[in-house]
Amino acid sequence: MRPLSLNPLFASLTSLPGVGPKLDLLYGKLLGREAPRVVDLLMHMPSGAIDRRARPKLNEVLPGQVVTVDVTVLEHRPSPPNRPRAPYRVLCGDDTDATLTLTFFHARRDYLEKLLPVGEKRYVSGTSEFYDGHLQMVHPDRVVDEKGFADLPLVEPVYPLTEGVGLGVLRKAVDAAVSKLPDIPEWQDEAWISREQFPPFTEALRQLHRPYEPHDVAPESLAWRRLAFDELLAGQLALALLRAHMRRQTGRGTSSEGAMRAKVMKALPYALTHSQQLAVNDITNDLALPQRMLRLLQGDVGSGKTVVALIAAATVIEAGRQAAIMAPTEILARQHLATIAPLAEAAGIRVAILTGRATGGERQTILDRLVLGDIDLLIGTHALFQDDVAFHDLALAIVDEQHRFGVHQRLALTNKGDAVDVLVLTATPIPRTLVLTNFGDMDVSELREKPAGRQPIDTRTISMARLTDVEDSVGRAIDEGKRAYWVCPLVEESEKIDLAAAEARYADLRARFGSKVDLIHGKMKSAEKDAAMARFSSGQSQLLVATTVIEVGVDVPEATIIVIEHAERFGLAQLHQLRGRVGRGSGKSTCLLLYKAPLGETAKARLAILRESEDGFRIAEEDLRLRGEGDLLGTRQSGDPGFHVARVEVHGKYLGAARDDAALIMARDPDLQTPRGEALRYLLYLFGKDEAIKLISAG
Ligand code: ADP
Ligand code: MG
Repeated sequence: MRPLSLNPLFASLTSLPGVGPKLDLLYGKLLGREAPRVVDLLMHMPSGAIDRRARPKLNEVLPGQVVTVDVTVLEHRPSPPNRPRAPYRVLCGDDTDATLTLTFFHARRDYLEKLLPVGEKRYVSGTSEFYDGHLQMVHPDRVVDEKGFADLPLVEPVYPLTEGVGLGVLRKAVDAAVSKLPDIPEWQDEAWISREQFPPFTEALRQLHRPYEPHDVAPESLAWRRLAFDELLAGQLALALLRAHMRRQTGRGTSSEGAMRAKVMKALPYALTHSQQLAVNDITNDLALPQRMLRLLQGDVGSGKTVVALIAAATVIEAGRQAAIMAPTEILARQHLATIAPLAEAAGIRVAILTGRATGGERQTILDRLVLGDIDLLIGTHALFQDDVAFHDLALAIVDEQHRFGVHQRLALTNKGDAVDVLVLTATPIPRTLVLTNFGDMDVSELREKPAGRQPIDTRTISMARLTDVEDSVGRAIDEGKRAYWVCPLVEESEKIDLAAAEARYADLRARFGSKVDLIHGKMKSAEKDAAMARFSSGQSQLLVATTVIEVGVDVPEATIIVIEHAERFGLAQLHQLRGRVGRGSGKSTCLLLYKAPLGETAKARLAILRESEDGFRIAEEDLRLRGEGDLLGTRQSGDPGFHVARVEVHGKYLGAARDDAALIMARDPDLQTPRGEALRYLLYLFGKDEAIKLISAG
């Protein structure tokens, strides 16, 4: 049971004054979770702070700065009567010769005249910018007089926002949330706390949301470091509890002669690469041991993980047991089936697929056959987790693209058998630090080389201004019988608009190239998606306009061209994943990254990395450096929020300490019974590791 004193933090955000159902929805979007709670808001970290102590003169203000200035109101310039939509401007000045224009859209004149009377002095805060060579501020965050200014905090945090949730509104809610912080026992080791000079947990949150110094809200501050360490420890402890739980059920050795493995390999139209062979050996050895296997098979896009997974499955199936492959999407599950079915048939493996789409009798038949052991290998999606899915004797769970699944989901699958061995396939090249945070102590097999015969992908960056040229050359390629993807980005903030953009592009290309053009996006029904995929796979359509639904794993070796619009909006790792959809066969492939000019220096550098390198690891590390770890994992798409507080570039150095601490806790107090153990339960709840706590109580 969660400690009662935490209840106010786990209450809905609507328990805060001023937050109604409408704002609640917007907060859900901002905080990346449905039905957000007070604690989620508390973990929404500031992106900076306004420092009202230093007030630059107008001629010292730089564009893009969040500043507070004291100015005198010079003149009102209401929207001209014939253009009521034009902004209302107020011109201000100080004792330098620079001026500042305050710009308001949809403004009420009487309101602004009262707020900013001509000739009076006002303090104004907001983001400065240059417009037409003049300093301006659109909708300042604050406009106050001398007295109002005296009441303002001198340092105030600013936060990432979303449309409809402005800074003022957010601050009020955060402030109310901070006031709800109860007394919470200290869960960190005392010696460690004093060595690192960490403030207590609640104090750290207070400092971040009510800073004294702008530095208080920097990720390097002691307060932020403390919270980051808390988050890392919570993650490591949850993993340690999970591992302990899994090890408690000792494994079962499964070995076989290898006849079935050999049949699968014989049916392959190619030979395994050296690293595929090594991975197969690792896995076969693990399976034979009487301990549970927890192995990560990590390989860049196109390195051929699926066949390794199938060979692993063949090993346990030959021993008379069952295996399951779980994919994050229906498309991928079907694709695995398509790849595997002919090989399985050659080897005498009975395969079935179970997704959310199977209903009624069809579903029941699969479940019946499964529990009787008449299915050897079940491929599926989340549907495999459902309670009524029971195996005859599940020996091996293979989880593809793991970071899209949570720890508890992995657990749900492995609970469906007796000491199930686990093989995780991941295409996202994950730097070592992240492997540790997300997977804990798994053993790792890496597929380092690409299958023979692959040609480098010719990657180019092209301005959107040359769209017509790009369309022309894609058109020529189609005429030559080639196949191409055309990717339109989907940015969560305005999914509708993005979808409309993809549909418009589709309409546009279809008008030019006719029925050879097809469309696939995330909002389509899965049957429609499959059909579109199948048409492209078979060559019936040759140009597939897609949103990022094709990001993970889709395998059509005949596709040799990929066009990515607004490449500057994607993370590097994501672009690499997308690019990995081509270059899978022996044909020469091209990747065209379309960007909207002008590109900033960083954006240019990022795209250049992609042009220069096809090494997923290098790209991932650059991405980590340039964008932070949240984007690397593609968290926006994954639905797995990863970290809220910790930033790997800044706090990654604490990871080792968090792991060691978790190991120590497990050695001394595995059931979290001591006073520190009790306090650690608070930690686990606060960082959303409830599943791990269930494992303790389950013993
Ligand atoms: P990923 O690691 O991205 O999941 P896949 O398993 O989808 O890669 O394999 C990519 C493609 O490479 C598939 O078409 C597969 O048949 C092919 N492939 C796998 N192993 C080899 C190999 N050793 N030689 C040639 N082609 C291979
Ligand atoms: Mg794959």
